Amino acid sequence: MAIHSKEEIVSNLDDEVFGTGFLPHPLPKYKLPKHETDPTAAYQLVHDELLLDGNSRQNVATFCQTWVEPQIRTLMDECLDKNMIDKDEYPQMAELEARCVHMLADLWNSPDAANTMGCSTTGSSEAAMLGGLALKWRWRKKREQAGLPTSKPNLICGPVQVCWPKFARYFDVELRQIPCEGRRLLMSPKEVVERCDENTIGVVPTLGVTYTLQYEPVQEIATALDDLEEEHGLDIPIHVDAASGGFIAPFIHPSVVWDFRIPRVKSINTSGHKLGLAPLGCGWAIWREGGDLPEDLVFRVKYLGGNMPTFALNFSRPGGQIAAQYYNLVRLGREGYTKITQGCADVGAWFADQIKKLAAFDLVYDGRGGVPGCTWTIRKGQEPGFTLYDLADRLRVKGWQVPAYPMPANRGDLVVQRVLSRLGLSRDLAGLLFEDLERAVQHCKKYPASKSLTPASASGYHHN
Ligand SMILES: *Cc1c(COP(=O)(O)O)cnc(C)c1O
Repeated sequence: MAIHSKEEIVSNLDDEVFGTGFLPHPLPKYKLPKHETDPTAAYQLVHDELLLDGNSRQNVATFCQTWVEPQIRTLMDECLDKNMIDKDEYPQMAELEARCVHMLADLWNSPDAANTMGCSTTGSSEAAMLGGLALKWRWRKKREQAGLPTSKPNLICGPVQVCWPKFARYFDVELRQIPCEGRRLLMSPKEVVERCDENTIGVVPTLGVTYTLQYEPVQEIATALDDLEEEHGLDIPIHVDAASGGFIAPFIHPSVVWDFRIPRVKSINTSGHKLGLAPLGCGWAIWREGGDLPEDLVFRVKYLGGNMPTFALNFSRPGGQIAAQYYNLVRLGREGYTKITQGCADVGAWFADQIKKLAAFDLVYDGRGGVPGCTWTIRKGQEPGFTLYDLADRLRVKGWQVPAYPMPANRGDLVVQRVLSRLGLSRDLAGLLFEDLERAVQHCKKYPASKSLTPASASGYHHN
């Protein structure tokens, strides 16, 4: 447009967003505002508030997906209005969910993958609740049939994610959590069996422990429970919390036997939104065979038309995550998942090797045989003049979130730090992180700051 005509139309243009009247006012925080706001302005304000959040790609604390292909964004957008619970209105969404269930059951070697039961959830936490409930129901039914009391169910686990203490409290089950002891930071078959009794509804090993990233020995635990059954007649099922491992082990640790190849493993949960590579809000609960899910936990809902079985803690939920999960399964196949997972594992192992070279640290997990990533602690006998909390804090200056946290009981004295290697953490980006970590170490040594930094005041550790 000619320069001289600009002047004439300028008064007809909409105000530039920061020129509009909203700018001098803070956003309402406690009361619904009286008046409307222009959508462009409202968007800008909300958008800007979110600028203050961390950059998710630099968050190496989370196990969750922070990078997706553009096609996934398109699918998520297209499914914005599709309520996955409404299986009568959106039968194809229900079909995609069922296909994912069967593919995962097959991936985990269910003897009857095409017919077994399973469902999508909002994440592993909801899937864990469903798995735990099924264990409780199965145990109670057996006890009732034998005329035995059913008032004191217990569940055995190791150093678990917070969803299991939650399950235990919400659904009135005693949690028999095996404490860490010395160098043993996982459950062991011996510790499991010692805690089993007639009121044990199940044992939950974790494939990819939140604290260290290592796998708990599912097969050894199953064998110990087989022996227990032979000796004492106690038949105790296993539910595997494979929140991250469910999408790792099948691809890069095929020799680890942890899934439905073990008859005692009756159910498995995983997070689609972790190594499953689906966007946030996607989990799966899968049962070994149809009969392993108690029928009276399934509700048949008629008021949406049709007669659809539902087993879930919530009702309405967007369907996009399911479509995106199915997209990933189809798009990547075994080949793609294997490449991506191996790539993450290689970066994790490389990072561990770099940490190993630093005099201040000892590796707790060397990035091999478990979840891609690594875990370390301050080397025994070293007084580097800083804590891992100081280091985590210093790394925040460059935008990295590298959590430091104490191990659970009885190793609360052991503070560790962890990096997760996910899709999107390239070797190059990991290299930049390592350089920043080295600089942060130098800084902390040079300015031995706050001995007062405690877990509460340092950047927090989140159990996800
Ligand atoms: C992440 C995680 C959970 C919780 O999963 P969400 O998908 O975040 O609900 C449970 N258990 C383990 C082992 C985990 O890693």
